[in-house]
Amino acid sequence: MEYNIALLKGDGIGPEIVDSAVAVLEKVADKFGHKFNFTPYLIGGCAIDAAGMPLPQETIDGCLASDSVLLGAVGGPQWDDQPGERRPEKALLGIRSALGLYTNLRPARLYPALRSASPLKDEIVGKGFDLMIVRELTGGIYFGDRGYRDGKYGREAFDTEAYSVTEIERIGRVAFDSAMKRSKRLCSIDKANVLESSRLWRKVMHELSVEYPEVAYTDMFVDNAAMQLVRDPSQFDVIVTSNMFGDILSDEASQITGSIGMLASASLGASTRGMYEPIHGSAPDIAGQNKANPLATILSGAMMLRYSFSLSAEADCIEDAVNSVLNKGYRTADIIGDSTASPISCTEMTDKVLSEL
Ligand code: NAD
Repeated sequence: MEYNIALLKGDGIGPEIVDSAVAVLEKVADKFGHKFNFTPYLIGGCAIDAAGMPLPQETIDGCLASDSVLLGAVGGPQWDDQPGERRPEKALLGIRSALGLYTNLRPARLYPALRSASPLKDEIVGKGFDLMIVRELTGGIYFGDRGYRDGKYGREAFDTEAYSVTEIERIGRVAFDSAMKRSKRLCSIDKANVLESSRLWRKVMHELSVEYPEVAYTDMFVDNAAMQLVRDPSQFDVIVTSNMFGDILSDEASQITGSIGMLASASLGASTRGMYEPIHGSAPDIAGQNKANPLATILSGAMMLRYSFSLSAEADCIEDAVNSVLNKGYRTADIIGDSTASPISCTEMTDKVLSEL
């Protein structure tokens, strides 16, 4: 198969980690007889410097014309004094909206070899965990009516949580489909004991669950979910939730893995085109020093193969290679933990993955 992939390397460590992922994708393409055509476009601070804006139209057009998009990270102190609309991070919202991406998939996996990196006790994470948070990305309180008004106690500010049946159904389907591709367990998280929008959320999810009889479906209130994630994360497989609850719970889930440099993510819409990126930022403190951990971006590439191109065996091959490199004890500085091994560089880690493929 032949696919066109837009590369948004961005700022800081972005170019280093995207180059690593490209090397891995190229090797997988060779191994399985595919052809990936990569085209770079500017985004973030580097786009401000070159084109005067964080998200040039050429970048949007290039991404829209591609089969999928791989992003590094944007931002850095040199652009911190830019006005709101011209901040590098604004380009992320812009590109997600231009590509119509309404779903965020955030896997949080504790690799057995990195167990000591988790802040949770061994008795809790001893058996590891591997969960996937499916977060609604373009609705809810972050996009609802907002403003100021005179209320009971004087001047007040308000934001509104609103979800339509259509929005709930489409994110619900992504979640049920994801559960079907994994271990067929789905937990929907809401606050249906208090919020009307959550009651509708729960009703629609229940109706959908009838269409997926093979998926073991449960509901949980968000306050309980926040506790359960640190009490026993292994009870979860796929979690589906609203924009705000997903924002908070996905950060909690990534924190309990203990390794920000390992976590990939995908943003998806109605078509197979998605945007894949590590969850971490541009790490300006280590940029250009060949110290970055490329694994989150390499694993984002694996997600692209699985979710945009339906190349599961190829995605498994990358994930197995990463697992094996970790099992052999290779570590970049951010995941060295209490290991006595010397940290390896970004390019050395990339070479280790390449040789495992
Ligand atoms: P960050 O994620 O860039 O860095 C936090 C810490 O984690 C730093 O010490 C960094 O060195 C380390 N780190 C992050 N990724 C790493 C990797 N792959 N390998 C090794 N160490 C890694 O967060 P920050 O410092 O808060 O933000 C830096 C810049 O990134 C800011 O401009 C911020 O706005 C931007 N940012 C961008 C994105 C994005 O592009 N999606 C996300 C978050 C932050």
